[in-house]
Amino acid sequence: MKPENTLAYAQAQDANDPLRAFRSEFHFPQHGGNDVLYFTGNSLGLQPKAAADALKQELDDWARFGVEGHFQAKHPWYSYHEELTASLARLVGALPEEVVAMNQLTSNLHFLMVSFYRPSGKRKKILTETRPFPSDTYAFTSQLSFHGGDPETDLVEVQPRAGEHTLRTEDIIAKINELSDELALVCFGGVNFYTGQAFDMAAITKAAHAVGAYAGFDLAHAAGNLHLKLHDCNVDFACWCSYKYLNSGPGSVAGAFVHQRHLGQQLPLFAGWWGHDKNERFKMERTFKPMPTAEAWQVSNAPVFSMAVHRVALEQFDRAGIANLRAKSEQLTAYLAFIIAEVAKSTGTHLEVITPSDPAQRGCQLSILAHGHGKALFNRITERGVIADWREPNVIRVAPVPMYNSFEDVWRFGQILTECLAA
Ligand SMILES: *Cc1c(COP(=O)(O)O)cnc(C)c1O
Repeated sequence: MKPENTLAYAQAQDANDPLRAFRSEFHFPQHGGNDVLYFTGNSLGLQPKAAADALKQELDDWARFGVEGHFQAKHPWYSYHEELTASLARLVGALPEEVVAMNQLTSNLHFLMVSFYRPSGKRKKILTETRPFPSDTYAFTSQLSFHGGDPETDLVEVQPRAGEHTLRTEDIIAKINELSDELALVCFGGVNFYTGQAFDMAAITKAAHAVGAYAGFDLAHAAGNLHLKLHDCNVDFACWCSYKYLNSGPGSVAGAFVHQRHLGQQLPLFAGWWGHDKNERFKMERTFKPMPTAEAWQVSNAPVFSMAVHRVALEQFDRAGIANLRAKSEQLTAYLAFIIAEVAKSTGTHLEVITPSDPAQRGCQLSILAHGHGKALFNRITERGVIADWREPNVIRVAPVPMYNSFEDVWRFGQILTECLAA
């Protein structure tokens, strides 16, 4: 069916959407008595209504059992993270032993780089995408400095070609080959936060391995957004946060992946008691005996309150199925691209979508460069009840997520954008 810029078309799409019922499982912020048009699931996902009961359960169990809750709580705290493993593995395309819910994202990046960024001799460079998320840049440069390297020369960003916003896979691979035996680590986002470009993880990993480098990915904008296959893509490590597409609440517990081939290999790592062999953890022995799973990288005991929310959010992903979510997402974002083009045409505005048009090279987010319009346009749509996000210098990021956004949301966004541009 040809897309149409009409409410009837959008509503018909929603009526055909097998995932439409999930929307009612979330709290939407209100604007003038209505749900806002929420397009920032890429920044902070909405709250699942089930989150409050899940948290209450842990508070109640704490009140009731005190320390005994570690083993007697409905979801025993001692092994709480284990309840998340199967869902996480399904979500990112991993074996259960390859994933663990732990810490925060940037912390995990550091912990994993302890194992996978080990410069030696001339092999000391880190290659990343142009304009990575600042926290990743800080992690890379501080790791380089920590190892006595020079961030000016040892952190290399693949640059887009003149006049282009996104990267070509062939250019990424050419850069990997050029750096060759100077390259220690290739670490990219799964999806770049600014452009919304999804990278070819399998191709990048293969090229990195061919020159003897490790390949890791920051999946902050990919987990819960793309249909990931970390194990099959052969990536060495990955980490992600749970508060963006995974709807687990501000600062909630993050995740990590270490490929099976590295497990039980005694890679150097920063250890803590929750990474120790769980059968002997309470022997409290001096010598660290790592878990034979990704849990070896887990340093501390489980942050149960944030994991309680993460558990119910992951349960929604299990029910919806990441393949189904991705299928809807491709349609929803294609509709958004269509609507933006319609608005540009009808208002005579140059709205340039810098996110790739190839669905294989993007997730749900589109980044719009509104030529001739700045923050004022963004402020006007915000006043009209659109929650999108503004990134300096002049990009509006709009991320309709398949879990709770509708085609009608996208159509309404187009109406508001048209009105604000006409004003
Ligand atoms: C959101 C985001 C972060 C945030 O890191 P935290 O440690 O969770 O605060 C880091 N990297 C990327 C790529 C992000 O998108």
